[in-house]
Amino acid sequence: MIIAANLKTNLTRKETNKYLAEVESFVSSKNITQEVLVFPAMSSLDTHDTSIIVGAQNAYATKDGAFTGEIGSVHLEEFAIKTILIGHSERRHILGETQEELAIKFNYYKDLGFKIVYCVGEPLEKRKAGKSEMMEYISSQYKGIDTEYKNLIIAYEPVWAIGTGLTPTLEDIQEIHTELKEKSTAPLLYGGSVKVTNAKDVLALKNVDGILVGSAALYGEHFCSMIEYAQELEGKEY
Ligand code: PEP
Repeated sequence: MIIAANLKTNLTRKETNKYLAEVESFVSSKNITQEVLVFPAMSSLDTHDTSIIVGAQNAYATKDGAFTGEIGSVHLEEFAIKTILIGHSERRHILGETQEELAIKFNYYKDLGFKIVYCVGEPLEKRKAGKSEMMEYISSQYKGIDTEYKNLIIAYEPVWAIGTGLTPTLEDIQEIHTELKEKSTAPLLYGGSVKVTNAKDVLALKNVDGILVGSAALYGEHFCSMIEYAQELEGKEY
């Protein structure tokens, strides 16, 4: 399974290095065979000497150039970073990235062979509007995205569940994941208020191939517990 931590705008470079060392030490001492990904803040990226996959939370669809405040692929290459998060709801809804811009970014990093964790998910009003409107909205987030890309991982993250402590029911997660699996056979993660107390139940669901964790992953110890749950579920029946 795939266990990913989105550290968002948290942890300094020094704190990130400590965090990665803690997770790395756990992973090697427990012989973890799951795929562990960590997305630190941009200024904490470095040449990380670790078996954990370190990815960028964002980068512009460019090698370099005049895009004040952004970084390009040259900056990720400096640190041998080949993994990127695209389409996170905070980038869509707070930073205003459009589907068109996300598709351009997706294709740029796809052409460079990056592992892409691509996020989709509905805001509350779309969920309240009923199943078909909600699925239609989520489908629109696949526009311009190559769902057969070999290095693609999809994360289903309902916007209303991110950082709120609210989650869909386990039945809901399983039902939506089953539908989303029809759009792409890429590994499908669930994200949105996953914590130590619910991670195991979510990971055990059919068609859930892993989790993307924000707030709860800031505690290395908690993130490690979630990694261990995934390890315990190794070989689960689909
Ligand atoms: C996220 O930011 O991708 C996320 C799932 O956040 P949280 O776990 O805090 O809801």
